[in-house]
Amino acid sequence: MPVVRHHLRCLDCETEIGASLDLSCADCGGLFEIAYPRLPEGGLRLPLTPLPLGQGGTPTISFDWPDARRLRLELKLEYLSPTGSFKDRGAATLISAAWSAGATAFVEDSSGNAGAALAAYAAAAQMSAEIFVPAGAPQVKQDQITAVGGTIHAVNGDREAVADAAAQYARERGIPYLSHNRSPYFSEGMKSAAEEIAEHGLPDAIVLPVGNGSLLIGLYRGFRELIQLDRIEQMPRLFAIQSMNVSPLAAASRNQEPRDPEPTIADGIAVSRPPRLAQMLEAVCESEGAVGVVSEIEIETARRTILQRGLYVEPTSAVPLAALSRLQERGMLADDERVLVPLTGSGLKSPPIR
Ligand SMILES: [Zn+2]
Repeated sequence: MPVVRHHLRCLDCETEIGASLDLSCADCGGLFEIAYPRLPEGGLRLPLTPLPLGQGGTPTISFDWPDARRLRLELKLEYLSPTGSFKDRGAATLISAAWSAGATAFVEDSSGNAGAALAAYAAAAQMSAEIFVPAGAPQVKQDQITAVGGTIHAVNGDREAVADAAAQYARERGIPYLSHNRSPYFSEGMKSAAEEIAEHGLPDAIVLPVGNGSLLIGLYRGFRELIQLDRIEQMPRLFAIQSMNVSPLAAASRNQEPRDPEPTIADGIAVSRPPRLAQMLEAVCESEGAVGVVSEIEIETARRTILQRGLYVEPTSAVPLAALSRLQERGMLADDERVLVPLTGSGLKSPPIR
């Protein structure tokens, strides 16, 4: 696959630099997005060097959800990815970027799924992965990281403390800190999901769980480029669903200060200060979607329902399903509309509590 020519553009001051692993603009501290002198014609992926573990190409199935029978609901089974979550799409691209830059080791911080994905792709590229996790991260996700050769650094404190510890460790040892939440390469890898969805026939709406927003941003960028390439006419409305207990995007969409985070079983989206909040809001607004929140009881009920229908997913995957009936009640999803929900993570990583 050819290398797609690209550079990095600051989201705040629009300064452009060449392809690099830099996480923020030297002029203003803003985060980067990937920019192309010419849109890639062969597809939206950014195949710097392919690391073939089999990411992407996940199946889509029709599904009859009890609270949303008037919708034509489809589920995209992202949890069937190589490491059991959609994060493999972003990990393949980010690790490819690091490999192309000559890195043989890197530091990363994650609560689990992204760490597992990055550690697996690092193994494929024969790179050392130093993964910082919160001390309370699910053990099964930590085990997955060490099983493929990653090194775990457990840190007491919140997600910010974990990120700070990772950045400091990287600085002291002179190895790259990839930060999948700040690097533009991770969400760029998610664009492949937009392309697959378009190939399958574009739905009217996509309802997805949102924490750091990499899938939301990747889908939005992917659909926008497909419009520019005249391959689709308009994009599906994007509905970003959060746990009520950790809902900074919902607060920002109402111009409110976020309330203090509380524990949630949806650990994959327990992100109280996502660095790309403005881009997430843009994706929701420009696609004419909305932000919604669901309670812990609603997440648990939805998860029980989906498990009992034979789909073994982690609680985060139940978050958008829990929101469907309310989105319908509020007129945001109409009868007979085609609605797609990505099931983002495997239940094997988060077994039900007995
Ligand atoms: Zn800047």
